[in-house]
Amino acid sequence: MDTGVKIILKPGREKALKRRHPWIFSGAIKKVEGKPELGATVAVENAKGSVLALAAWSPHSQIRARIWSFNPDEAIDGSFFEKRIQRAVEHRQKMGLPEYTNAWRVVNSESDGLPGLIVDKYANVIIIQLLSTGVEYWKDAIVDTLVGLFPGCSIGERSDSESRSREGLKLAAGIVEGKEPEEQILIEEYNAKFYVDVRQGHKTGFYLDQRENRQSVARYANGKRVLNAFSYTGGFGITASLRGAASVTHIDSSADALDLAGQNVELNGLDLDTHEFIRGDVFDVLRSYREKKHTFDLIILDPPKFVESKAQLQKGTRGYKDINMLACELLEPGGVLATFSCSGQVDRDLFQKIVADAAVDAGREVKVMEWLSQAPDHTVDLAFPEGLYLKGLIGRVW
Ligand code: SAH
Repeated sequence: MDTGVKIILKPGREKALKRRHPWIFSGAIKKVEGKPELGATVAVENAKGSVLALAAWSPHSQIRARIWSFNPDEAIDGSFFEKRIQRAVEHRQKMGLPEYTNAWRVVNSESDGLPGLIVDKYANVIIIQLLSTGVEYWKDAIVDTLVGLFPGCSIGERSDSESRSREGLKLAAGIVEGKEPEEQILIEEYNAKFYVDVRQGHKTGFYLDQRENRQSVARYANGKRVLNAFSYTGGFGITASLRGAASVTHIDSSADALDLAGQNVELNGLDLDTHEFIRGDVFDVLRSYREKKHTFDLIILDPPKFVESKAQLQKGTRGYKDINMLACELLEPGGVLATFSCSGQVDRDLFQKIVADAAVDAGREVKVMEWLSQAPDHTVDLAFPEGLYLKGLIGRVW
């Protein structure tokens, strides 16, 4: 496709592209020919003059261009977006996802060949996040495709993530198509039900990436006293309660999240008396349990991203270690720790080391029973390892 504008790479800087990695950093670019608009399609040429790919132009970001296609002859137009989104939907349908949940990630950005585009479906409401100039440029085509694929669904936007600023885009949120969704959308995930606040909730409203892990952890819950740290709207704790947990203590710093967690307990017909909600800082609450020698049989640690960038690695690592050490100390011998990190900068090896160090400091041994990752609708393309961000383990603590 002749775009009229092109990026010319420095000699030898096409290596990542050859491995089908979709990002072009500013340092790899020798020059830009033409004056591309924000998000417009540009051809990517190597130093020898061969066109290697077509990409979206993003002048304000260190990631200066994101690849749409490694086939220079492909047309980047409305039907391109239709094909990519259709393929993403087919991929989820083949997983059988819609049979056990009505809330799933429809498009996962780079890993579905659409850098910057997140689409999540909550029952009859589709929420989009446009996090790159390229998908902002093609917004109408994307929305049209979603209207066609999901007739009768409303489409809302939650492009209110700070990453938009790095792209030079304003934050945006609101209804895009169809009627305004209810304040709380009812979703079903296996045998659990949750109310989701797609307007004010975190991310697009719910942590869909933990769906399968909620099931895995709940298998250890029968008859147990469960601590659900960083509970958000109750996900892990409610799933554990449905599997027969004796009691669940939810801790979160957000009053709104805990309020919804309470409603979710009732929604599932569970006994509110077996659920306790503590608004506070997990670090402080765990320390106070240690002082009181209060123990648990199953502890879930699902903290927010402690490491947003390399600069935060040391501090974030310290945070992960502290909560894991405290959790090990609070578990009865033979108790179960389910611990997670969603920081992309902390890979599985580092996470293992952190938890191992925490166990040593707590004077405990941890025997790994399961390694966990993100739910499969949060696609990981092997050529884009950055797409794998969530890791966790379930271990027995002696
Ligand atoms: N486990 C949840 C998702 C957790 S997201 C689920 O399955 O849905 C992380 C949560 O941690 C958020 O709800 C956020 O409000 C909370 N949080 C962040 N820092 C905290 C802190 N220091 N103490 C307590 N909660 C915190």
